[in-house]
Amino acid sequence: MPAVLERAAPRNERMAGDKIECNACPVLCQISRGKSGACDRYANDGGHLVRVDPVLLLRRGQGEPQTLPFETDDGIPSSDVFVTGIGASTTYPDYKPAPFIVSSQADGVDLVTVVTEGIFSYCSLKLKIDTDRWLGPEQANVRCRGEVVGHVTTAEYGSQMLSIGGVHHLTGGSKKEGRTTCETMELLGNQQAVELSIDGGASLVVQAGRAPIVGGVEEQRMRVGCGSATIGIFARQFHGVADEVVVVDDHITGVLTEHQAGRCLSMRPAGLRVRGRRSTPGRYFQVANPGTGWGGTDIADPLTILEPADANTAWPGLRLLMVSTTGEHAGWYVLDEQLQPQPAPMPQAVAEIVARIGENCEPALTTVLFIGGAGGSLRAGVSDNPVLLTRAIKQSLVKVTCGGAPAYVWPGGGITVMVDVSQMPARSFGSVPTPAIVAPIEFTMRLDDYRMLGGHMDHVRTLPQMLAAGSWHTDGAPSQRRWVAPAASNPWPLD
Ligand code: SF4
Repeated sequence: MPAVLERAAPRNERMAGDKIECNACPVLCQISRGKSGACDRYANDGGHLVRVDPVLLLRRGQGEPQTLPFETDDGIPSSDVFVTGIGASTTYPDYKPAPFIVSSQADGVDLVTVVTEGIFSYCSLKLKIDTDRWLGPEQANVRCRGEVVGHVTTAEYGSQMLSIGGVHHLTGGSKKEGRTTCETMELLGNQQAVELSIDGGASLVVQAGRAPIVGGVEEQRMRVGCGSATIGIFARQFHGVADEVVVVDDHITGVLTEHQAGRCLSMRPAGLRVRGRRSTPGRYFQVANPGTGWGGTDIADPLTILEPADANTAWPGLRLLMVSTTGEHAGWYVLDEQLQPQPAPMPQAVAEIVARIGENCEPALTTVLFIGGAGGSLRAGVSDNPVLLTRAIKQSLVKVTCGGAPAYVWPGGGITVMVDVSQMPARSFGSVPTPAIVAPIEFTMRLDDYRMLGGHMDHVRTLPQMLAAGSWHTDGAPSQRRWVAPAASNPWPLD
């Protein structure tokens, strides 16, 4: 390939003599000697363009992350080293080969991994927040420092989903909105804490792998199930120690003796009526407004969801448990002569079941998934005929990873990848001021398949060559590198 295609952008003749131009993104910073560009990721080191951060290499079989001196690079089997896109640099415009195209051998098979730091304008984060508490109405704006950076999407089973980022917030609004969105995404992707507020809803602090903090209160438990499920799970244990159990839930409140579970146990109907819309026997929707009280409702006193008891069915002395889906709230009542529930000390046997509801809850966490569209131009860094890469991925001939973490590739057109950021190494994400997110992406395949799909074969380097020469994009200076152990839960990318 002619050198003119490979080096930094053609020199701008009006540029001062001590400057170099970075061409890793469309901003094309002109960087003075000793300075770095607008994203702080590239610098002018004595007239050479260098990537400021070291390229991150995963080494199989290592314990805790550690930095090793350069000399120890020799002699490591190539099958035990995986070059990630983190710190690898980016080639722009896209017809240039990716910064690293590294050969290796695993189990006697020649492999190649195409490595780059992708620049993603089309990308978002999906947050799964384990909580029963009301975060805000579906479709409501999610803000960070007052700027709209996303929206509330669906509630899932025990979790509320948020969408953060996306091209419309990055590029479709004001400059400030785009910049704030990009910063929010970068922080969350890098497993940092971010404070968000939801229009008409809650303020919260979220961080990948940590409990969400809703309205200043750290969430502890993810509910065992909806109210109906809780009835179903514990019905047999309730039988004999309570005459009626109401599991208060913003979604489906369960009433034991009316529920199929109570009927199967031949429990005597208790004649207690619950407010809300009856869906099916013993299952009620909308018993209260959503909130941060019992079971994700706005109630502090559970008796407010009860209608007067049916005098023909209920009886004085009836023992009633009211409990939330996490067991965090529970009350024990006995009906008096007027069939009014009166608080009473909870029997030990009932308290043990309430404790078991809590025991069956998992710790509440925030999960952050990155979704990025790699179906666009960065494919040209892999192949002269990019659609062949897309097809090869769909045929499972190519493994896609992000920082060595397994990426799910969505069905359908393009290469839309999704990855759990907590499976990626720390500080995997960066940004450029266009604004866009920078994220590592690696494509691993058999060398023969790479040749077949029109790969840049003249840029394939062995690991020692790559370590010695560095990325051709950054003036060929040897790459600084950092070794880390792969996340224990991840499959080895070259297997
Ligand atoms: S913003 Fe960063 S990547 Fe883009 S041209 Fe400037 S230094 Fe290079």
